[in-house]
This record gives sequence, C-alpha cells and structure tokens, in this order.
Amino acid sequence: MKKEKKLKPVQKIALERIHRLVELAKKMQEEGKENYVKRYLTLAKKISEKYTTQIPTELKQNYCKKCYSMNIIQIKQKPFLITKCEKCGFEKKYSLEGKKKE
Ligand SMILES: [Zn+2]
Repeated sequence: MKKEKKLKPVQKIALERIHRLVELAKKMQEEGKENYVKRYLTLAKKISEKYTTQIPTELKQNYCKKCYSMNIIQIKQKPFLITKCEKCGFEKKYSLEGKKKE
C-alpha cells in the first residue's frame, strides 16, 4: 500500500510541528520532566490526527504510544527493531527492511 505521498502545505507544517514536539519531549525527558514529555507527545499525536499526517516511524520509535513515556529500550533483532516500554511494558515491532541503514 505504497502511495505517492504528496503533502499539502498544512500537512508539511503539521509534520514540522510534530518533529519539534518530539524534540522537545526528548529534551524534557533528559531533564526528567515527565509530565511535559507526555504533554508534548500527546500534542504531537493530536496534530497528526487533525491534519491526517502520520508521525514518522523514526520518531515513533522513540516513545511508547500507549503511555507516552520515552523510557523505552530498543532491541535490534534483524530484520526488526523492537521497542519496549520500561514503564508499561508495551512492545512494538518495527520492520527494518526498506531502510538502508545498517
Ligand atoms: Zn508505555
């Protein structure tokens, strides 16, 4: 189901904002401000829903979509990347195929 993606201008802006929010969430995580982490990640999700823009996989791999915690462990098990949330134990599997990194 690969469709050529043509983003509308608003979606481009939405994507930029999502990137920024995840960045901010990361920073807050480093500072131990978990309330903010959750807030920024929830906001990112809201934006993605509002503008029907998908959150890029590489960003999603950084947090738990269940409890919005960034306390996750990434385990590489070729051809998958498994992320496990340290907080709620939620696991997610990502395919590494199609990405030429490593
Ligand atoms: Zn979790």
